[in-house]
Amino acid sequence: MAIQKPRGTEDILPGQAEAWQYVERKAREWFARYRYREIRTPLFEHTELFQRGVGETTDIVEKEMYTFADRKGRSLTLRPEGTAGVVRAFVEHKLYAEPDVVKLYYLGPMFRYERPQAGRQRQFHQIGVEAFGSADPRLDAEVMELAWRIFTDLGVQHLRLDVNSVGCPMCRPRHRQALVEHLAGVKDELCPDCQSRLVRNPLRVLDCKQERCQELTQDAPTVLDHLCDACRAHFDAVRKALEALGVPYAVNPRLVRGLDYYTQTAFEFVVEGEGHLAGTICGGGRYNGLVAELGGPDVPGIGFAFGVERLLYVLAAQGTRLPADAGLDCFVIALGEAAKGEALVLAQRLRAAGLSADVDYLDRKLKAQFKVADRYGARFAAILGDDELARGVVQLKNLATGEQEAVPLADVAEAVRQRLNRSEG
Ligand code: ATP
Ligand code: MG
Repeated sequence: MAIQKPRGTEDILPGQAEAWQYVERKAREWFARYRYREIRTPLFEHTELFQRGVGETTDIVEKEMYTFADRKGRSLTLRPEGTAGVVRAFVEHKLYAEPDVVKLYYLGPMFRYERPQAGRQRQFHQIGVEAFGSADPRLDAEVMELAWRIFTDLGVQHLRLDVNSVGCPMCRPRHRQALVEHLAGVKDELCPDCQSRLVRNPLRVLDCKQERCQELTQDAPTVLDHLCDACRAHFDAVRKALEALGVPYAVNPRLVRGLDYYTQTAFEFVVEGEGHLAGTICGGGRYNGLVAELGGPDVPGIGFAFGVERLLYVLAAQGTRLPADAGLDCFVIALGEAAKGEALVLAQRLRAAGLSADVDYLDRKLKAQFKVADRYGARFAAILGDDELARGVVQLKNLATGEQEAVPLADVAEAVRQRLNRSEG
């Protein structure tokens, strides 16, 4: 029996990969404009990094990690998210050496043991940024604006930015106490997970996806009601900066990110719609305690990550057309033995000139070669028969218009390029 891919993974096939490349290219372009630079960290890390960096009481660490012992018995974990690894690298390589804002971005696969469903996989892909070195609320706004730019540029519709403040270690205990007191009366009605959260990390009860828990916490005190003066001022300044940048947002006092290291600003980009059309595509926030938690100096940070599968799913569901196949500039059609050899050389010349080209390798007849050119999305066919070979020309055919003319062999690449430019202009 043939072996199939593991549950929760996907093959990204030609025809789909083009959309991925498009999203990645757009993201990279926007990152560069904001002076973010790429960092690539390992796909696996010491398990302890995620225990400390993501937080022992998070769903990720409690039940979603792919953890294994290597041959020497060391506990390693496939990265479930990008921030912890980036922070580790930031500390390990002392990227904080200069007092400066360090802006990093990453993209790649993440691994979480979850129940696979639409937009939820075990291997999925995130694109994200981390900006270290400033606690300035304008940076929070810029980070959100960057994500917003990317999504709008890609044509995401019905996008909503939810913003909240989850406070800091100064003000959170007060809220925590108020929350625990509020929930004490309904404790027994909460789901088993939330009953345990109530003890270990009460804030996360607000994040529960169970309908009953959401009802029960409807009127629960929010962190916003308990912010200290500094966090309140920070939140107000973030809002002001978002308004100055013209980024639409909504304050969502119930928004708590599932990760423990977040301080102050927390945000999510949500796509509004029915059923599967709706969902969170991006989450982020400030984590002023994380770098120190992972052994670095007291350097603040902020970032976001979005799921590429979720984003593509939403775009497809909204009917946005994304590139599927770049096609081919020129397919070289050869007739006869001598022409076949020359066809490969002609293809080489086209490719060297920066054009995409291919030839027939299956000994097809003329008509079949035209069909293949069509299937490859070729814009031009260069037809090379013995007669053309003798005259040192090819018949260059525009496959869209049917126009055809003889072009000297040496000039084919230039001729194709000129005609492509003309049809583009
Ligand atoms: P959710 O509440 O949907 O589980 P999360 O809070 O676990 O999301 P984050 O850890 O903030 O998600 O990850 C940021 C983004 O990564 C999400 O908004 C989503 O787009 C994507 N993402 C997270 N988990 C998965 C997954 N298992 N499969 C596909 N995409 C995912
Ligand atoms: Mg999750």
